Amino acid sequence: MISISCDVKGIKNAIEKAVLSGVVDNVKKTVGSVRCKEHGKAPKIKIKGNNLNNLSFEVDGCCEEVIEQVKKKLK
Ligand SMILES: [Zn+2]
Repeated sequence: MISISCDVKGIKNAIEKAVLSGVVDNVKKTVGSVRCKEHGKAPKIKIKGNNLNNLSFEVDGCCEEVIEQVKKKLK
């Protein structure tokens, strides 16, 4: 299973929490099945930002190949 963590600041209320969890779900759907072709490992993704309108993705994986796969899909 793909690992997704969040480090988003300035989440003030339930609505914003729901929006963020929607983003997480979306990322799961988009890249949840990505595995490294060479090593068979799933990437790790961190969603971060200072607020909901300014999110960025940090991708970590066993090699550049799998990181590239994720970045292409998240664009
Ligand atoms: Zn790899």
